[in-house]
Amino acid sequence: MAPEERAAAILVKLRAQMAYAWDRAPFYREKWQGAGLEPGDIRTLEDFRRVPILTKEEIRADQAAHPPFGSYLCIAGGEVARVHGTSGTTGKPTAFAIGRDDWLRIRNAHARIMWSFGVRPADTLFIGSFFSLYMGSWGALAGAERLGMTAFPFGAGVPGQTKVAVRWIRDVKPTVFYGTPSYGLYLAEKAREEGMDPRRDFGFRILFFSGEPGAGIPATKRQIEETYGGLCVDTGSMAEMTPWMTNAECMHRTGMHLWQDLVYTELLDPETKAPVPSGGEGVPVYTHLERTSQPMIRYWSGDLATWTGEPCPCGRTYPRLPKGIYGRVDDMVIVRGANISPSAIEDTLRATPGFGGEFRVVITREEAMDHLVVQVEYAREVAAQAGRDGAILERLRKEMEERLRTVIGVWPTVSLLPPETLPRSEFKARRVIDNRDLFRSLRGGA
Ligand SMILES: [Zn+2]
Repeated sequence: MAPEERAAAILVKLRAQMAYAWDRAPFYREKWQGAGLEPGDIRTLEDFRRVPILTKEEIRADQAAHPPFGSYLCIAGGEVARVHGTSGTTGKPTAFAIGRDDWLRIRNAHARIMWSFGVRPADTLFIGSFFSLYMGSWGALAGAERLGMTAFPFGAGVPGQTKVAVRWIRDVKPTVFYGTPSYGLYLAEKAREEGMDPRRDFGFRILFFSGEPGAGIPATKRQIEETYGGLCVDTGSMAEMTPWMTNAECMHRTGMHLWQDLVYTELLDPETKAPVPSGGEGVPVYTHLERTSQPMIRYWSGDLATWTGEPCPCGRTYPRLPKGIYGRVDDMVIVRGANISPSAIEDTLRATPGFGGEFRVVITREEAMDHLVVQVEYAREVAAQAGRDGAILERLRKEMEERLRTVIGVWPTVSLLPPETLPRSEFKARRVIDNRDLFRSLRGGA
């Protein structure tokens, strides 16, 4: 469809979505009334820019005030087909209530998009990611089932599971893989340890990824394609925005297309919030056009991307993110698919008796898996007691690991250090050291 024609179709859906949310969600009605707006004011896509931005903090606060799903839930409880959620970064996860008819539309959207990167009904999809609150696995499964292919929902995350996975893959020979890029590479290492060659002994012709940057970074993409001999496809927006596949590369892999008729995406300047022209860098801001359960309207992703309207060989006229999503405007870091805020780590440590006041977060990649190490200074009192009670440091370390795990949703390794050992810095961002090759190649502009 020509972009102008598509814009007209999007406007019709946008206006209907706003009117629907206004009628059903006290949250949106109050928010827009506060901005002096009502849905009838939106007559053009330019008008739509007057609608205030929606942030994660707002929906989290609304869910806390109106548990469990928030006052932006637009359907009755009995219409909820599935409950999912995020791993919370500040203690409380965000809950998703997905309506029955929404789930059907998500299946359709994902099947359409999977087709665009080459998946066909004759394929078998191996899903190598967590089956839990995490939306990624379930979204991939829903699309696979709708597309009519064979689904192999293997999962991940159980100790020893990867070793078992490589044997199943060798024997069943699935043709499509889904997971995170770091897990894709870890799986290949495990296969080699078992004496297998992923290229020779597996049969993946397409590997698609979400949950982490990586599949869109040329060096990582090349590594995955050389390892497996299949196409590496970058997909994924955010769990809140499910159908999250509406950012997805087609089989030409020229960057993620934005499926604008399903989720309308704007790219805005992080400071001025003005629209960024083609070729520029900004923050993707998403609006659901087909969700009726918890529609997100102008949802601020906090991610960074560039976009372009240049034609793609596939013929789709959707704009693209040629470098994928490659960074954050805030200090969040993504580890194993979870968004982690250093300030949440800081708050947790400060609330733990025995914390010495300074810490550092080190993210490394060992055996292709991300590891989060938190180096923490213990307090002087602890240092004094440690002379008499040798087990005190071990107890403190365990307690910190458990508290952090509850808050950030990922198991960290806490490494305790004597007081005054870490360098002092007034810049919060310097507390995070990202040693993953992924980010190194990114910074180098590879
Ligand atoms: Zn394309």
